[in-house]
Amino acid sequence: MTALLEVDNLRVAYGKIEAVKGISFTVEAGQVVTLIGTNGAGKTTTLRTLSGLLKPLTGTITFDGQPLHKYRADQIVALGLAHSPEGRHIFPRMTIEDNLRLGAFLRKDTEGIAKDIQHAYDLFPILGERRRQAAGTLSGGEQQMLAMGRALMSKPKLLMLDEPSMGLSPIMMQKIMTTIRELREQGTTILLVEQNAQAALSLADQAHVMEIGTIVLSGTGSDLLHDESVRKAYLGED
Ligand code: ATP
Repeated sequence: MTALLEVDNLRVAYGKIEAVKGISFTVEAGQVVTLIGTNGAGKTTTLRTLSGLLKPLTGTITFDGQPLHKYRADQIVALGLAHSPEGRHIFPRMTIEDNLRLGAFLRKDTEGIAKDIQHAYDLFPILGERRRQAAGTLSGGEQQMLAMGRALMSKPKLLMLDEPSMGLSPIMMQKIMTTIRELREQGTTILLVEQNAQAALSLADQAHVMEIGTIVLSGTGSDLLHDESVRKAYLGED
């Protein structure tokens, strides 16, 4: 089976600083794949490159048979790759519903859009209850839900989530992780970047540990959850 996403020997630099130093991994349709690792490991840089916001120095990115590294960011969204960025980037003065609509900016199917807005409200009822309110009035966790809902509005073949649990209370984090599980059960393919290794590994089919720009360890989520070096370095065990 060919993978939905194939990243091969990807290198990315900011000027002279090489942030991603030749990584390779794949994402199969229907999987949740996670990249874990400490601050500065290159996880966000990887997602931004997949989205077309950064250009690789070398390497190839093949998505659904297309050479993504040759496309612009807007073309990449049209090909079916959506990015829910770190720090969320919602539009605080616009209503929650208008923020969701923005995620569908490339779509013309009014009925389908209405159905998917309803789907976002089913996933996150609080967004539906407050649909007419300014998005800036939402709590941090609720804004994270909105960012995920908005990314889903493009009907992506692959949803990339950058640190969805960042800054959230344990209860909110649990809710976000449960939703990622639900999305996967509905067939959504997800590439998840997380610093919360425990949460990410417990729901990932495949996982990769990044350290200073390289992938140092790969395996199934459960393999890495039980790996001694991972437990020591990322799960706070002695
Ligand atoms: P975090 O969880 O902190 O976002 P990360 O694994 O996502 O960490 P990146 O944000 O990809 O890591 O950063 C990788 C490296 O690239 C770091 O050394 C970082 O300082 C550097 N870097 C990131 N953005 C820039 C930039 N705009 N200009 C220069 N260097 C950058």
